[in-house]
Amino acid sequence: MDFTLSAEQQMIRDMCREFAEEEIKPRAEEMDRTAEFPYDLVRKMGELGLLGLPFPEAYGGAGADFLTYCVALEEIGRGDASVAITMEAHTSLGAMPFYLFGTEAQKQQYLVPLTRGKQLWSFGLTEPGAGSDSGGTQTHAELRDGRWRINGAKAFITNAGTDMTGGVTITAVTGSQPDGHHEITNIIVPRGTPGYIIGNAYHKMGWRASDTRPLAFEDCQVPEGNILGKCGDGFRQFMQILDAGRVAIAAMTVGLAQACLDASLLYTAERKQFGRPIAEFQATQFKLADMAMDIELARLIYYKAAWLHDNGQDYGREASMAKLFASEAAKRCADRAVQLHGGYGFMDEYPVSRYWRNVKAHEIGEGTSEVQRLIIAKQLGR
Ligand SMILES: Cc1cc2nc3c(=O)[nH]c(=O)nc-3n(C[C@H](O)[C@H](O)[C@H](O)COP(=O)(O)OP(=O)(O)OC[C@H]3O[C@@H](n4cnc5c(N)ncnc54)[C@H](O)[C@@H]3O)c2cc1C
Repeated sequence: MDFTLSAEQQMIRDMCREFAEEEIKPRAEEMDRTAEFPYDLVRKMGELGLLGLPFPEAYGGAGADFLTYCVALEEIGRGDASVAITMEAHTSLGAMPFYLFGTEAQKQQYLVPLTRGKQLWSFGLTEPGAGSDSGGTQTHAELRDGRWRINGAKAFITNAGTDMTGGVTITAVTGSQPDGHHEITNIIVPRGTPGYIIGNAYHKMGWRASDTRPLAFEDCQVPEGNILGKCGDGFRQFMQILDAGRVAIAAMTVGLAQACLDASLLYTAERKQFGRPIAEFQATQFKLADMAMDIELARLIYYKAAWLHDNGQDYGREASMAKLFASEAAKRCADRAVQLHGGYGFMDEYPVSRYWRNVKAHEIGEGTSEVQRLIIAKQLGR
């Protein structure tokens, strides 16, 4: 067993670490305060190839493996969670469905501008009435005269309304299956299609500089060919998308946990009480040690899940474990970091208060912790 990253993986990790340290981190407090989408940073990430990492060069990507993409996300997440979720949602949820399930023409038309960082794309699964029960989609599409007529609504969609967003791929009910279950199909809806209504951005507790919006579809029409794969493939497709997405979320979550430890190591060495740095108290050292252990274990499980993915093996169980463990470990790290900062940790001038607010979303997006436990239990035959 070899845990060493390859020379290429180390190079991309180091590039992302430098970019996060020099360009993202100094802006993170302001981005959080103003909740403004950082167009310049995202465009720069496109130029660096970070918006198309795990796609072949033939489609404008960097040709990296999945582990490399995850390691890159860890470093971007160490810089800022809003920027990391923008990259993750664009890559894992927006671009990946085109790569995995699109026709050659769809790949050329939709995927290439995404991997080159010219556009962002979003994935609309969640609805006001269908969250954890994602198969409960109510949005429906009816085929009439060679066009899909879509009606319904989506909630909490990342990258849905930036100036760079090219459109959304949505799940919609297109009929019913012989067993009575909904037939769900993924439909491509380019921005600007009449009847595709992009709502106002939500005001959020964390991930504040990322773009999250509700969407509505009112007699929105797209050509018959705007589907991914065949009618009825939608459920299987988004399950596959979410498995990989969960490993990616785990990776960016490890970055957030690492940022909590970075800040705590610095602060506890400087802050003096009772005549000495608080880092000299054993109670402080125990918190730092627990943080380091949580981070190492979370990193190991996402590395393993990504390795299984890269080696063509089943990784659904490890993906759920990685997302669940990393998000809960990062929450423990954020809590310890605020505690170690005392009253200053409660103030927005210190990054740890932002880390504490951001970490909550990691336990919710792309399947809540409860849903991850259900998936793991199912693998145990329960
Ligand atoms: C910032 C942000 C960005 C997001 N981006 C996207 C996106 O880009 N695209 C997209 O499609 N979605 C997105 N989501 C939606 C996200 O995936 C859902 O919020 C999540 O899946 C939970 O659904 P819900 O919010 O409807 O909660 P619900 O499903 O209503 O859950 C409420 C509570 O009930 C629990 N629960 C539900 N069912 C069970 C059960 N069977 N057993 C035990 N507990 C259960 C849940 O765990 C949770 O604690 C985003 C969400 C957020 C917050």
